[in-house]
Amino acid sequence: MSLQVKDEVKADVLALEARYGRKPCLVVIIVGENPASQVYVRNKVKAAAYTGMESRLEELPAGISEEALLSQIAQLNADPLVDGILVQLPLPKHINEEKVIDAIAREKDVDGFHPGNVAGLWLGKDCIVPCTPAGIMRLIDSTGIELKGKNAVVVGRSNIVGKPVAKLLLDRHATVTIAHSRTADLGAVCRTADVLVVAVGKAGVVTGSMVKPGAVVIDVGMNRDAEGKLCGDVDFPSAQPVASWITPVPGGVGPMTIAMLMKNTIACFLSREAR
Ligand code: NDP
Repeated sequence: MSLQVKDEVKADVLALEARYGRKPCLVVIIVGENPASQVYVRNKVKAAAYTGMESRLEELPAGISEEALLSQIAQLNADPLVDGILVQLPLPKHINEEKVIDAIAREKDVDGFHPGNVAGLWLGKDCIVPCTPAGIMRLIDSTGIELKGKNAVVVGRSNIVGKPVAKLLLDRHATVTIAHSRTADLGAVCRTADVLVVAVGKAGVVTGSMVKPGAVVIDVGMNRDAEGKLCGDVDFPSAQPVASWITPVPGGVGPMTIAMLMKNTIACFLSREAR
């Protein structure tokens, strides 16, 4: 599924180069040596290479000052050959993440985290949709389910996953419930879901007995089990027989998120070239 999206982008890159005389260009910035972040940025740059777009990884030392990082971003904002800028989070404690996100030009904000893009999403205006929620919608659509009038439950209310995916489901006329750590009876809420999106960050928070038979289940979680193996938030062995469709971890939302980053880079390229 994510391969299909990357192949669409590959075709777009060829067409855009033929039309505009240059390829879309994504710059990924990593600060410091967080091992998980290093894996994520490498996968992003690898995906960009697969699509044929230009990309580069800027590896900055953990001790870089906030000022120096902001000045680097300002240079990239001003560079006409750069279409997308992604700063891998989390940043070292001495750097204010909000300031950094706000500093990326809205039209180059491939992550869709800039306040202008967040406002656009909530107001139903043109915007870059964050990659994970966009990928979740693409996965749900691949099942062929008609969302209009269905009950969707999103477990988790973060700004990067829970809230935006709830808004996207609402835009598609689902009846949306957002559950979180204070939800009184999570099982009862989840059992109402025709579409269940789980973005918590705790292995096994949703089990098969909490899934409505035939539901579409999207597991966003990325956790490590006792043996250090990557696992999701949903207990896959008990949920899979109850669901009509469920995403595995690894292999579901993660690769699709990266594929949507490629799509967002194309969108950023087009929004600038079309001006
Ligand atoms: P956050 O920690 O920002 O948010 C977690 C949410 O889960 C909060 O809203 C919290 O509620 C809620 N929560 C915590 N415990 C419970 C519980 N017992 N029952 C119900 N809700 C609970 O996480 P993110 O949204 O950033 O990420 C969620 C997961 O998704 C993580 O594992 C992360 O690694 C993964 N992820 C994966 C991505 C991918 O590309 N595959 C991309 C982004 C995230 P409250 O608000 O009340 O505290």
